[in-house]
Amino acid sequence: MGIKIGIPRALLYYDYFLFWSTFFEGLGAEIILSPKTNKEILNSGIKAAVEETCLPVKVFMGHVQSLASQKVDYLFIPRYVSVEPRRFLCPKFMGLPYMIKQLIPGIPPALNVDIDIRKHKGEVPEEMYRLGRVFTFNPWKIRLAYRLALENQESFKNRMLRGLQPEEIFFNRTDAKTTRTLKQNSTLRLGLIGHSYNLYDRYINMDIITKLQGMGAEIVTSKMFSDREINQGLKKLQKDIFWTFGKETIGSAYYLLENASVDGIILLVSFACGPDSLIMDLIERTYKRAERPFLTLVLDEHSAEVGVITRLEAFIEMLKWRKQKNESYIPAHGKSVDCPESPI
Ligand code: SF4
Repeated sequence: MGIKIGIPRALLYYDYFLFWSTFFEGLGAEIILSPKTNKEILNSGIKAAVEETCLPVKVFMGHVQSLASQKVDYLFIPRYVSVEPRRFLCPKFMGLPYMIKQLIPGIPPALNVDIDIRKHKGEVPEEMYRLGRVFTFNPWKIRLAYRLALENQESFKNRMLRGLQPEEIFFNRTDAKTTRTLKQNSTLRLGLIGHSYNLYDRYINMDIITKLQGMGAEIVTSKMFSDREINQGLKKLQKDIFWTFGKETIGSAYYLLENASVDGIILLVSFACGPDSLIMDLIERTYKRAERPFLTLVLDEHSAEVGVITRLEAFIEMLKWRKQKNESYIPAHGKSVDCPESPI
């Protein structure tokens, strides 16, 4: 039996699981995935983390603890620094392995790898050989596993562009959809903007995609845009953004504003997220100036499902009314329609 590797179903699992599972399985390892996020996992993460930590990191800590009881040989806790030239990930990703080590004692040893594109040279980065040597001393096997992982990651990105969700792709649930939205024949089309772990972890976002679809909306998420489209959206900015996920968020929101016909956007933000507080403010200001509807939902462990449903319903109703009346601006903010000059 192969070495068992525990992968937490949180944070960048939603972006890179296919890459890592292909790599490890190519080296003969067995993947043990933590269960879907649930109340128990969230509570154990909250207990382990310091209070000011953002919700997604707390959730990650809960997943780590759930894997600790599953007899895995190693936990996989990569340290992401940079995945593209001249841009970085948020400091929480850089400090994640150290945070886990300090805050959660008694867990299986962690397999650490530094993902830092600035240091990756050659066809196969030395970091990948170092990681691969835990399983085999055969460099050809490591090289092959790495190449296959890259190929699968590319195919993952392409399928995301076509409107599939990460877990549908990871577990081959369906490949039938070919459009770029998550529902067709809807009365409204909405942009859902945020980090992958907020968009696709159904527990922490209270299954927002299903709820919106149930309310008759067709969804385009910020993960369904190509690099070219994101870069086109970014042209509105005077200065470059040096956070990779901030770039995706703002680029997709601006692209939607200029090029794609959505009736409004919903921004999904984590409470206590430093980068998001800046990025979302920029998006909100731009949408306000352009008189286009947006709704910001801040996710934290205290978010109540009833409150979220009420806000979504109100937003959807406002958009439908706006569409019916053919009004260009019936906002959830700013000026009122009946009395355009007076602030609400
Ligand atoms: S980008 Fe924000 S939500 Fe994500 S890990 Fe960093 S602080 Fe947390």
